[in-house]
Amino acid sequence: MSKAVVLLSGGIDSTVVLALAKHVSSEVYILFFDYAQPQIDRESQAVQKILKHYGMSHNTHGSRIELPLREFSLSGKAWPEAFIPFRNGTFISIATAWAESNAFDEVWTGMYNYPIRSRAFPDQTPEFLGAMRAAVHIGTAGRVRLVCPLEEMSKKAVIQLAVKYGVPLDFSWTCYHPLLLGTIPCGVCDACLKRRKAFTLAGIEDPLRYPEQNRS
Ligand SMILES: [Zn+2]
Repeated sequence: MSKAVVLLSGGIDSTVVLALAKHVSSEVYILFFDYAQPQIDRESQAVQKILKHYGMSHNTHGSRIELPLREFSLSGKAWPEAFIPFRNGTFISIATAWAESNAFDEVWTGMYNYPIRSRAFPDQTPEFLGAMRAAVHIGTAGRVRLVCPLEEMSKKAVIQLAVKYGVPLDFSWTCYHPLLLGTIPCGVCDACLKRRKAFTLAGIEDPLRYPEQNRS
């Protein structure tokens, strides 16, 4: 069995990947990145709850890495809200360095291919993942492998997989603009809209409560 490093953000995709990695690996270690994202506190809480659910502790089964990538991107250029230049490449590179340093042989990520028609997220395309897979293999002399189990799945299929594996979706966090000191997701940011649409398509109720539901 393999030893897997999992990039965990507290969102649905990476939590599903953690569940899959736990299922087939002899050992799992998570890396959580604080890249100065506005939703860092809420993501950090989600990660702690998810790790507890899987009987893991942040100190012995994972590391929090501070890398203020978002601050680099605040240069006035009008990036799409969710875009941080070369974020995925940076995270995979660091996870690969950690894996090789600690004799782990796989890096798992919840990345999935963004539609090719959009070039808004160039480090989330099939070409990019293929190139990173090759870079990880060549750059570690074949000792580390990049594993992207969701890369060809739809968000709807990911949610169905989450239910199948008993992933604690109520702990996952997606929203960029949480309300009431981070207690509820806004329901209307890009991330919330994508999440809600995916749950609807999957025919599964999102365990998170949104503002209009809290009012009723
Ligand atoms: Zn939101």
